[in-house]
Amino acid sequence: MGRLDGKVAIVTGGARGQGAAEATLFREEGAEVVVTDVLRDEGERLAKEIGATFIAHDVRAEEEWAEVVRQTVERHGRVDVLVNNAGIFERASLLDTDLDTYRRIIDVNQVGPFLGMRAVAPVMIEQRRGSIVNISSIAGLQASPGAFAYGASKFALRGMTKSAAIELARHNIRVNSIHPGMIETDMITQVTGGDPERHERFARSVPLHRPADPAEVARLALFLASDESSYCTGAEFVIDGGITAS
Ligand code: NAD
Repeated sequence: MGRLDGKVAIVTGGARGQGAAEATLFREEGAEVVVTDVLRDEGERLAKEIGATFIAHDVRAEEEWAEVVRQTVERHGRVDVLVNNAGIFERASLLDTDLDTYRRIIDVNQVGPFLGMRAVAPVMIEQRRGSIVNISSIAGLQASPGAFAYGASKFALRGMTKSAAIELARHNIRVNSIHPGMIETDMITQVTGGDPERHERFARSVPLHRPADPAEVARLALFLASDESSYCTGAEFVIDGGITAS
């Protein structure tokens, strides 16, 4: 018996990285999964491989969110889980961040999850159940010198998670945030500027002395998506090998 049997999940930014790991694990645990991403080829390939549905979707677009929810309900009859995973990282300090850069990052990392929560909530309210998992970052818990807009977007998502959790609790909808540290995906290459030495230094600075595999984050997302976390809402789940402990 799967831990997500009978559930329907939407995973944004699911074509690769952590989103792909979450979509794959959710399928293995019995969920029907809708993978969305701007990366059409990768998304379609993964969906075919794991038996999911792919929808080309830019999380910044309000009308596309309506379409993702409509198609998911049409195909599977319900939406039990939303993982707001899509995100972008750009390195720029406060003084180096121009307004376009700031807005670009906020649009994907903050406006995207806002539109997503607002789009799925009416369906979840009607069902009287749902779990929303917002992928923030340790950059939503502590300063991100040199990645000013990214840090702003991830702090915002942490706060939005708590407000949504309180507003939606009476409808039996849970909303939690995940705060990953160093996860081995394409994004970490951007964080380290593609420099292997910097990657190695970052990995050594983690108390567990290594980056995480995306599958390790997927297991936490699975817990929050499933009924095993039935009393968790409005909470922060840190998965960072100990980075923020000291
Ligand atoms: P990734 O770059 O491999 O995956 C991000 C995915 O989001 C990609 O598939 C990308 O195409 C998609 N995406 C980007 N913009 C989009 C848009 N406008 N609409 C739809 N999809 C879009 O990186 P990842 O590590 O898998 O990132 C997943 C999440 O984890 C992100 O929110 C990221 O900020 C967060 N995170 C990552 C790390 C890390 O170390 N890798 C650490 C903390 C938090």
